[in-house]
Amino acid sequence: MAADECNIRVVARFRPLNDSEERAGSKSVVKFPADQDETVLISGKVYVFDKVFRPDSTQEKVYNEAAKEIVKDVLSGYNGTIFAYGQTSSGKTHTMEGVMNSNDHQGIIPRIVQDIFNHIYTLDANLQFQIKISYFEIYLDKIRDLLDVSKTNLAVHEDKNRVPYVKGVTERFVSSPDEVFEIMEEGKNNRHIAVTNMNEHSSRSHSVFLIHVKQENVENEKKLTGKLYLVDLAGSEKVSKTGAEGQVLDEAKNINKSLSALGNVISALADGTKSHVPYRDSKLTRILQESLGGNARTTIIICCSPASYNESETKSTLEFGKRAKCIKNSVTVNEELTAEEWKRRWEKEREKVARLKGQLSRAEMELERWRRGETVTKDEQISLNDTDETLSTTQSMISLSTVTSSVLSPAASVVGTVLTVVNPILGLDTRSLNVDEWEKERSALYQQLDEKDDEINNLAQALERFKSQTNEQDELFNQSRKDNENLQAELNRLQQESESAKEEVKEVLQALEELAVNYDQKTQEVETKSKENETLAIELDTKLSSLNGIREELESLREASQQHRKRFLDMVLVLLRDVGDIGTIMGGQMNEQKKPTIENLDQADEEFTLARLYLNKLKTEARSIIARLSELELEKVDHQKGIGLKDKELDEAHLLIQQHEAKMRSMLESIKELEEKKRVLEQTQDSLNEELVKLRAQVFDWFPALSKMTT
Ligand code: ADP
Ligand code: MG
Repeated sequence: MAADECNIRVVARFRPLNDSEERAGSKSVVKFPADQDETVLISGKVYVFDKVFRPDSTQEKVYNEAAKEIVKDVLSGYNGTIFAYGQTSSGKTHTMEGVMNSNDHQGIIPRIVQDIFNHIYTLDANLQFQIKISYFEIYLDKIRDLLDVSKTNLAVHEDKNRVPYVKGVTERFVSSPDEVFEIMEEGKNNRHIAVTNMNEHSSRSHSVFLIHVKQENVENEKKLTGKLYLVDLAGSEKVSKTGAEGQVLDEAKNINKSLSALGNVISALADGTKSHVPYRDSKLTRILQESLGGNARTTIIICCSPASYNESETKSTLEFGKRAKCIKNSVTVNEELTAEEWKRRWEKEREKVARLKGQLSRAEMELERWRRGETVTKDEQISLNDTDETLSTTQSMISLSTVTSSVLSPAASVVGTVLTVVNPILGLDTRSLNVDEWEKERSALYQQLDEKDDEINNLAQALERFKSQTNEQDELFNQSRKDNENLQAELNRLQQESESAKEEVKEVLQALEELAVNYDQKTQEVETKSKENETLAIELDTKLSSLNGIREELESLREASQQHRKRFLDMVLVLLRDVGDIGTIMGGQMNEQKKPTIENLDQADEEFTLARLYLNKLKTEARSIIARLSELELEKVDHQKGIGLKDKELDEAHLLIQQHEAKMRSMLESIKELEEKKRVLEQTQDSLNEELVKLRAQVFDWFPALSKMTT
């Protein structure tokens, strides 16, 4: 089976300017020459790729021209790889995944899945297919299974053909595109678990989607396998531009480490002179080992922003693509040959070897003759056709050796190839023996390598554990140290506080002592004072009692004075009233004059003036009264004379009255006598009536019939 040499295909895709670039006033710095869809110019520099997709290229166009072919390759037993490289936001995920359920916007992966199944449905019924899906991500150089979140640090091993693979990664058998899409969805959801910032995370991790196709022809038992790696790489931007710090910086460095490992691998392969390719520097390059310089048809999609702001990133991305374009892969079909097929091929090769041996001995003989100075005629010389056959045979031997040993390490495969070529030439039949030995040694070495890989993985995991333990311990230690420091500070503070408290206590004690002394003095003072106080109190008592006596005296004096005053007032009042009465008695002008009174002692003076005025008036009035009195005396004498006459008349009337009275008295007596007589007569009438009643009752007793008649 011939190994085809083929270059890695590199295509570049430019996305349109995005909103933030437009807002920032960024302009497009890329130019696409008309009618040349392999060329792009950036600031005058020309880059040529297998294809250049312009910003307006549709998802369908990108798929058809950059990825579609891979489907047929994988179904024909070739390995394939498509990976998207570029800075964050350059369109890698858009290109690889796009919008899953949109016909127009879905990316390469869903289209490939759909196409694989479409192809299978149209293929020969004798072909049986087995399709397995794995989905994992590489973050900080750890492989995390996206279909089983418990697998967080998977190891990379090499199979018997020295092809690296992720050991223990989940493989899901699928039978329809929908199943694949569900798995993708599941993987993406798992990717979100335990991640706080998905944008940041996805820009710092590589996601790998692996489709493994196995087919068997049930008729001739021919088996083909093809592995297709679809990789969405982490953002390729430089750390400085993202302004990362601390943990983020560590991550970025680590991601950059895997991306720089990728760059180194690509540089080493592009250089072609370097014997060592540093695949083992990162898990990413280990996994992509077959895709870069190995047995795989590889397409790199370089994703770029056209904006002036991203010009330097875009340029370094394009440089990466340019280097990658030089890498040559040698691809063969992964065919599992049956024993029959192997035998047939072996026979064929043995015949060829026998023929070659014959040709070689004839050539040696000719050479011998030339060396001896003989001339060999044209007819006797070995024909060119024979040489061609020899060459083609040699080539086929090489390819056979490549197929049988699949992939030996570059050096080993060269030795193997040389052996298989040289041995028949030398006529030694040690081939089968050597191959066996090689095979044994190789598998032993592989086993050792696997063991070492496991060991490395275990050690790495242990290291990881130790690291996290150390971190924890460190944290604890730091925490303890901090606590300790805090406690120390606290202790110091407390000590200081205690010192100052001691001082304070001392001061307080001193103050207390002073206070005690003071107190003693004060108590003594107080005692003397209280004694003084007591005597003073006694004195005060006596003073008080004398004061009380004085007060009482004063009170009684006050009362007496009050009474005197009252009496005096009363007297004055009586006097004034008398004066008033005299005024009234005297009548005349005095009646019109206000009578003097004393109601208020304070106004006594005023009242007295009024009283004196009143008295003056009274004097003049009295004088006029006396004058009148003498007049009246004279009148009185006259009247008395008249009165004497009248008295005589009155005496005579009195006598008459007395006579009449005596007459009345005797008449009253005779009335009394008459009444007495009347009373006696009434009494006798009553007794007579009683007697009558008695007599009547006697009569009726005697004559009852008489009583009836009367009734
Ligand atoms: P990356 O995966 O490289 O970080 P994305 O694929 O997530 O970048 O792209 C960033 C943004 O740009 C997304 O919103 C995406 O839809 C948009 N985008 C990328 N490429 C294109 C394109 N060719 N056409 C239209 N929009 C695009
Ligand atoms: Mg992305």
